[in-house]
Amino acid sequence: MVAAGEGGGPDRAERSLRSAPRRMALGYALLAGLWILLSDMLVASENWPGWAQTAKGWLFVTVTAAGLYVLTARFTRQVLGLHAALRRHAEELETRVEQRTAELVKANRELDTFVHAASHDLRAPLRSVAGFAEALREDYGHRLDAGGHEHLDRILRGAERMDTLVTNLRDYNRLARRPLELGPVPLEPVVETVMKLLCADVRARGAEVSVTRPLPAVLGEAETLTHAVQNLVDNALKFTAPGVPARVCLRAEPRGARTRLWVEDQGIGIPADRLGGIFEPFERLHPMDMYPGTGLGLAIVRRGVERLGGTVGVESVAGAGSRFWIELATAPAERMA
Ligand code: ADP
Repeated sequence: MVAAGEGGGPDRAERSLRSAPRRMALGYALLAGLWILLSDMLVASENWPGWAQTAKGWLFVTVTAAGLYVLTARFTRQVLGLHAALRRHAEELETRVEQRTAELVKANRELDTFVHAASHDLRAPLRSVAGFAEALREDYGHRLDAGGHEHLDRILRGAERMDTLVTNLRDYNRLARRPLELGPVPLEPVVETVMKLLCADVRARGAEVSVTRPLPAVLGEAETLTHAVQNLVDNALKFTAPGVPARVCLRAEPRGARTRLWVEDQGIGIPADRLGGIFEPFERLHPMDMYPGTGLGLAIVRRGVERLGGTVGVESVAGAGSRFWIELATAPAERMA
């Protein structure tokens, strides 16, 4: 504890300062009362002359002025002591914050370098595994029976899954620190880009995706927003019952100064007791062989949207479909319109 004021700690000095007005008022009232009582008795009994009355008054004024001076000087010392202690505290704190910030920046830089190197170094042997598996099929496929081809398929699927996992982990890590410049982003082109990116998947699955237009502009960043919407639509296309083509709907809803973009499907839904952790990394609710994935898609959505100052959520009924949403500030021009 840093000492302050009259030899006590800041707490004691603060307590003393807080009670100062009360103590001063009480002391003054006591002193004045005693003075009036005693001096009046004295003056009345001896029948003192007029100058003595005046002197009595001046004496009182001098004594109280001296007392006030002593007390005020004491309190001023206490206040200055507290102030100095606070300044020292603030300086210590600032130095500590600077040290910690420097440590954090260094650790983040090291983590970025590590993730970059790890994702690069992990993907190189993966590409090699996939490449040689393909070469094996091309050059020696005619010598393999059905079991051999099945093994090759598994190797290729495993390599592909690992590649997606490494890419997703890199994206997830990057999203935390990538500098973002927020500005008005019209949702229509974002949705159009997503539809273009997923059109092969939509066609292959015989899915139907409808967009309720017009869509407003929000405050965000196009790349992060596109990634988030793509992950949501991707899931909506994927999580359907076997043989049932997905029906997906995108629409926007104004909510005060914010806009909520809904991605709704009529797929397999999510049990109510599993909704809580759905945006956590690696949280997967459905079997991998039926619904392949890395368990990072929704975590990337949440991290990205939160970095844009937004929120995410989901409503779902098991067996009847899910309604995922992301909510961001509506772009100012839209609010005025
Ligand atoms: P994944 O790579 O498995 O799709 P996500 O993080 O995107 O990972 O999703 C996490 C889990 O949430 C999924 O594995 C799935 O169980 C569930 N989920 C996500 N979207 C939907 C959806 N539209 N319908 C039903 N379940 C979903």
